[in-house]
Amino acid sequence: MRTTQMFIPTLREDPGEAEIVSHRLMLRAGMIRKVAAGIYSYLPLGLRVIRKVEQIIREEMNQIGAQEVLLPMLSPAELWKETERWDFYGKELMRCQDRHDRDFCLGPTHEEIVTDLFRREVRSYRQLPVTLYQIQTKFRDEIRPRFGLMRGREFIMKDAYSFDQNEEDAQKSYNDMYQAYQRIFTRTGLHFRAVQADTGLIGGSSSHEFMVLANIGEELIVFDPESSYAANVERAEVVTSPPASQDEPYHSLKKVNTPQTKTVTEVCQLLNTTADHLVKTLLYTTPQGSIIAVLIRGDHQANEIKIQRHLGIHDLTLADSDSVQSVTGAPTGFSGPIGLKNVQILADQAVQHLKNYIVGANEADNHYINANHSRDFNIDVVGDFRQAEAGDQSPHSQAKLETARGIEVGHVFMLGTKYSEKMGAKFLDAQGEEHCAIMGCYGIGVGRAAAAAIEQNHDDRGIIWPIPIAPFHVHLLPVTTSEQVLEVTQTLYAALEHANVEVLLDDRNERAGVKFNDADLIGAPLQVIIGDKGLKQGTVDLKERKTGEITKVIPEELVKHVLEKLS
Ligand code: ATP
Ligand code: MG
Repeated sequence: MRTTQMFIPTLREDPGEAEIVSHRLMLRAGMIRKVAAGIYSYLPLGLRVIRKVEQIIREEMNQIGAQEVLLPMLSPAELWKETERWDFYGKELMRCQDRHDRDFCLGPTHEEIVTDLFRREVRSYRQLPVTLYQIQTKFRDEIRPRFGLMRGREFIMKDAYSFDQNEEDAQKSYNDMYQAYQRIFTRTGLHFRAVQADTGLIGGSSSHEFMVLANIGEELIVFDPESSYAANVERAEVVTSPPASQDEPYHSLKKVNTPQTKTVTEVCQLLNTTADHLVKTLLYTTPQGSIIAVLIRGDHQANEIKIQRHLGIHDLTLADSDSVQSVTGAPTGFSGPIGLKNVQILADQAVQHLKNYIVGANEADNHYINANHSRDFNIDVVGDFRQAEAGDQSPHSQAKLETARGIEVGHVFMLGTKYSEKMGAKFLDAQGEEHCAIMGCYGIGVGRAAAAAIEQNHDDRGIIWPIPIAPFHVHLLPVTTSEQVLEVTQTLYAALEHANVEVLLDDRNERAGVKFNDADLIGAPLQVIIGDKGLKQGTVDLKERKTGEITKVIPEELVKHVLEKLS
């Protein structure tokens, strides 16, 4: 391609709206343009990258026998009502109506549509297994669309759905997909880690997120530096450390005045102790409207996802001040487990090992010291209810867990019969008995993966594309308009194209400096600089974008060198 024939509106200045590198560089390199919050146009250069990521995904999906389909983006509300997601999805679902006032939504994901297809068309176990995938635009009215293609309201996703007749086959479909994802992200040139993820109410261990490690990542993961264990903090198990000493005697409970202490730190300061001697009492409202109390050690963070999973609910909100007042008789900040009536008390396992600790007294400006469970109040359930953190014991080795931030680029999830039961997606086995199909669902954010690649591959001059997803392999840069330079440029352009190298020729009438800047910004892995000085010595410069290393090569051998570097 020639630059003069391609729409590449590069920007010299950093666009103010962009907070992260990939967003900034995609705008500056003329790859994307914003239309509205979280809604982007893909320009030719950006689309080339997207298509490359898609192609890698397609090849690996086809390789494991998944079949490509294209389901409609627009889906009727009835299907979503069957699974109750019409309500459950809430404001993230983009809804609309047709001329007859019938409700529709723009698909944020496609379990409903694909399960409907299955129940209409599949009758027998002989038709299984089947895995369908598509690469398509998805719509989610995200609360905070941001970071360009990372979190859009309209974005391209590869989504796949597997249907199997038994657990064993379903696990195989899941594993095949997991392996395909490993290959896809490796081929895309990403440094990533598959981490165990939360399975919500479905339970089981089969959910992995593929995380690209990057500081701007929105997900926090914990990993064991000495084993392959890694998990999203939402899900990471916490192993209890045994109590340091059991023989501390019980002291007697005492109420102490703690005016104006709203936080754990303030209470500890006033009482001259540390946060691990205090137990927070967090009051939550369940979707059924009841209040529960969760006891967490003062230096730990509650993990609401774990609490929800234990209770078998999908929503938990901290009780508002009115509810706190009515349940405890005190304002927020002074809640405690002693004397709480009609409230289920859950305690994190770390609390179980404590003695003589501080709790709120359910009375404004007062706490108890030397509180002890069993003696002063009863715990209903002990469990793992806190967030894992750096320094925790690894559940799989002697090492301490470390944390890192990640960008979730893919997700594989064993659904079980969640949708097939609700929608009646059944098949007959060899004995003529009816069963619900066992499903898995598998997503990849195509634009997010491309953006993540930029987060991991750039310098202060611009993008440094991994070869497999680069919009062009070679950027040809004639630096003057002398006859000799133009002639050699033409010859090399033709030779490279002939060798199926994807080449962008900067044929603009611009200064060398401008061309160099744009080439570094756009980030093709190789640049070829053709100038009069070099040609006098009979050479052109072959420059690697990543290292800046220049090789002087004679024009006749350029293609050979390029192919070597690309292979
Ligand atoms: P997140 O927690 O980041 O919102 P999710 O759990 O909602 O992601 P899935 O429903 O599993 O995501 O979607 C599959 C994949 O689609 C994700 O792994 C991610 O790569 C991508 N994705 C999800 N939401 C967006 C978005 N708003 N913009 C771009 N890509 C997205
Ligand atoms: Mg989401």
